[in-house]
Amino acid sequence: MSNFNIQSILRENIKNLTPYSSARHEFKGKASVFLDANENAYGSPLDKNFNRYPDPLQISVKEAISKIKGVPVANTFLGNGSDEAIDILIRAFCNPQHDNILILPPTYGMYEVAAAINDVEVKHVNLNSEYQLDLEAIAETIDEHTRIIFVCSPNNPTGNSIYREDIETLLANFNGLVVVDEAYINYSRQKSFIQELTEYGNLVVLQTLSKAWGLAGLRVGIAFASEEIIEVFNKIKPPYNINQSSQELALEGLQQVDMVNKWILETTLERDRLIEKLAELTFVEKIYPSDANFILVKTKDAISIYNHLADHEIIVRDRSKVSLCEGCLRITIGTPAENDLLLESLNNYK
Ligand SMILES: *Cc1c(COP(=O)(O)O)cnc(C)c1O
Repeated sequence: MSNFNIQSILRENIKNLTPYSSARHEFKGKASVFLDANENAYGSPLDKNFNRYPDPLQISVKEAISKIKGVPVANTFLGNGSDEAIDILIRAFCNPQHDNILILPPTYGMYEVAAAINDVEVKHVNLNSEYQLDLEAIAETIDEHTRIIFVCSPNNPTGNSIYREDIETLLANFNGLVVVDEAYINYSRQKSFIQELTEYGNLVVLQTLSKAWGLAGLRVGIAFASEEIIEVFNKIKPPYNINQSSQELALEGLQQVDMVNKWILETTLERDRLIEKLAELTFVEKIYPSDANFILVKTKDAISIYNHLADHEIIVRDRSKVSLCEGCLRITIGTPAENDLLLESLNNYK
């Protein structure tokens, strides 16, 4: 983007902030006796020692991610889930009761919640009937206080990818941050926006280890952005935001690219199979195209189908009260055996 300047939208208090400086941060040399951080030098009451504070910048984990994604470590932030990255973006760039963010419903709920917690106004422009961007309405709705547009692609709960050219239009014309949430990118036919980081200074790409990587319990989310934006993240994050255990296990998990790719392939094949089988059911009105590990299914009576499945101990997500998702259930792709149980139960519905 031609004359976009991060500093122009960064909050004054963040610009002027002196970040917390930890013991490990202040000492840079080589040492063997660490009496600087008030840790317990004797060890941990566990088989494994966790008595030392973890690397505040998680360099080993970031290097492993960099190898896989091809994005430099300096352009990478790790958060306690993507949710931490979303919260930090709002806190860094939006003045409470003054600035606003734009979200594009139906979409992921955390953008709005994080804004509300920070007392930041949320503007809404619904996706159109194809669940794509309404660029005209977006242009009309943003004002001089709009700091961030959140674009979820593939979108949760609808499952589709947002047209690339439309996101590029936002990136090229919006004088604020465009956050592209790619939590489901591994299941998508579209390519990631991480290759565009050098092109657009106002781009932030969110990814996560919680979905395709199968590590939701570790709470590791990723933000890729310009070095200048990453410096802002690092300035205001809690010093040790990813714990030692999560760092070690994430690093271990990141060695298993082949296993993860196998799951991704199997999940997309199961997605195709489920779409085909669900289409045969009389009470299914529409199955939306999916680039994710879930499908949005429009039914004749969502609540009653939901309850029928719950009676069989199968839980799906009821989205029927979400505007533009009337009558819809969101169904995560399970293992082949789980998907069989789902289909069997649906075949027995009334
Ligand atoms: C699941 C999900 C995330 C991941 O959140 P984590 O905090 O990293 O687990 C982010 N964005 C969307 C749209 C999601 O559906």
